[in-house]
Amino acid sequence: MERKSLWAPWRIAYIRTLKKPEGCFLCHSFARPESDDENLLLWRTKKSMVVLNRFPYNNGHLLICPARHIADLDDTTDEEMLELMKLVREAQRALSMTIEPHGFNVGLNFGRCAGAGLPGHMHIHVVPRWDGDTSFMSTCTDTKVVSQSVDDLLAELRAASTAHGLPGL
Ligand SMILES: [Zn+2]
Repeated sequence: MERKSLWAPWRIAYIRTLKKPEGCFLCHSFARPESDDENLLLWRTKKSMVVLNRFPYNNGHLLICPARHIADLDDTTDEEMLELMKLVREAQRALSMTIEPHGFNVGLNFGRCAGAGLPGHMHIHVVPRWDGDTSFMSTCTDTKVVSQSVDDLLAELRAASTAHGLPGL
């Protein structure tokens, strides 16, 4: 029986849109500076980066992580540790200048049982907080209201960074 092929080269554009990046999204983001907007990458430093969480706990939720794919604090060098903590400071500065939080949660989760969504690549969460932000919506309906799009926030944080020379490592 003769085998016939259906030739439909125009489908490649569609198929490529279905292809998800393989592996770790943080490593993927760091390796592709040309896609910083798409990947919500705010700052890239020598050994670290800061990205906006696409699924934020609150508006302005940032992830600060080493460029290397390492899981634990134990794997970091002193230079990486210093840079990461400086970025926490700079992130708080940038958020304070833009969306004016009343407080912050800054934290690390290690292991899935501790809530780490991406246990292979450590990251520090910086979550802005406002008085009364645990409203009836989140406590009664498990629904969080985030009042600004991540794209708008990325633009706002970049503008503030440029204006104030952040990150000032
Ligand atoms: Zn990684």
